Amino acid sequence: MNKTNRKLDALNYHAKGRPGKIQVVPTKPTNSQRDLTMAYSPGVAEPCLKIAENKDDVYKYTTKGNLVAVISNGTAVLGLGNIGPEASKPVMEGKGLLFKIYADIDVFDLEIDATNVDEFVNIVKALEPTFGGINLEDISAPTCFEIEKRLKAEMNIPVMHDDQHGTAIISGAALSNACEIQGKKLSEIKLVVNGAGAAAISCSKIYLSLGVKKENLVMFDINGVLNKERTDLDELRMFFATDRTDVKNLSDAMKDADVFIGLSAGNVVSPDMLRSMAPNPIVFAMANPTPEIDYETAVETRDDIIMATGRSDFPNQVNNVLGFPYIFRGALDVRATAINEEMKLAAANAIAELAKKPVPEAVNLAYNLKNIKFGRDYIIPKPMDQRLITEVSMAVAKAAIESGVARRVIEDWDAYAEELRS
Ligand code: NAP
Ligand code: MG
Repeated sequence: MNKTNRKLDALNYHAKGRPGKIQVVPTKPTNSQRDLTMAYSPGVAEPCLKIAENKDDVYKYTTKGNLVAVISNGTAVLGLGNIGPEASKPVMEGKGLLFKIYADIDVFDLEIDATNVDEFVNIVKALEPTFGGINLEDISAPTCFEIEKRLKAEMNIPVMHDDQHGTAIISGAALSNACEIQGKKLSEIKLVVNGAGAAAISCSKIYLSLGVKKENLVMFDINGVLNKERTDLDELRMFFATDRTDVKNLSDAMKDADVFIGLSAGNVVSPDMLRSMAPNPIVFAMANPTPEIDYETAVETRDDIIMATGRSDFPNQVNNVLGFPYIFRGALDVRATAINEEMKLAAANAIAELAKKPVPEAVNLAYNLKNIKFGRDYIIPKPMDQRLITEVSMAVAKAAIESGVARRVIEDWDAYAEELRS
């Protein structure tokens, strides 16, 4: 299909029939007058009174416990930049759709006309009575850091900025498996991180939690290497500034590096840079839609490489959908008050472990592939793998309980697994 047709198809997909991608559907009988007197006045007063007596009953009588807000102000949408809240709505509806089909979580997408941190935070905070969790989406750096930090501190329901942590969790799982296949230790690998934005910073943080040594990591932004001589770096970026004085540019850094992580812009890595990397290199070129170096060039240049991108048309897609539906599923099911580091690491580990298990035939069929198995071209699970919901949600729920943020304890894990599968 050519590009014009693809664009038209995408527009028609959104416009045809009822415009948009999601709708609200009643979950209780509405067939008779009696049903309606229960759904609304006067019957509805009974749950209102119960909740007024005991706020926690809101989880018992309303959708709160299965309802997530996907919230954006449209300041960093996909790779499209600051296109505003209205233009971000198709993305947020799409995210709602993914929450629903992968984890049966209902979503209200909220596109907010506010770029000021205080204003944005006040609006979101005031929504706490409605939702079981908040997925922040496509908010530009550095305000996204401040917004998430404040909301996490000031709200009593889980808040996660998926562009930061989703990518971190999935790429962390991918990195740990790629190292295993390439015979490298996380504690010894030398990493180059190109990009110092929302995704790069939070990915680098999770890599440190997984065992990577900060002194082995060199980070770049558009102005070059982050080092102690820079005077333009904020606290978050200064944290990653290197002490190395031999690295002036990306080519210097790539020499003998084990891992390249790209969260920057398309086509900034050359084949020569790849050739200069250590044996058995790992390259995650995740700039979207054009990676730092394209997949085909990379695998032609180095036959010992493990290569991942953000794209679905090549192996090893670092795709957030492996994480966010199940992270929120697990968090909601134990009524967690937060999504903390323990829960994120548990998700990363569960995703990494799942990739090492034999792949069910249904997954081969779904991707029209034969014999998918753990190795160079399969370092993380495929999105259509139906084991993700049990493996990841249960790991997250357990981590929430063990780390003390769960308000509900799961006693019967077999029954919970059954419920997740159904
Ligand atoms: P962001 O906050 O805007 O950060 C972009 C960073 O890249 C900034 O630090 C910027 O430098 C730096 N940069 C831009 N061009 C560069 C260059 N030529 N060389 C070195 N650094 C450069 O964006 P983000 O949310 O972190 O996303 C970054 C990229 O990763 C996007 O392409 C996005 O689509 C992609 N991404 C992919 C996935 C995935 O595959 N699952 C997930 C998340 C993000 P300054 O700070 O100096 O401006
Ligand atoms: Mg996003």
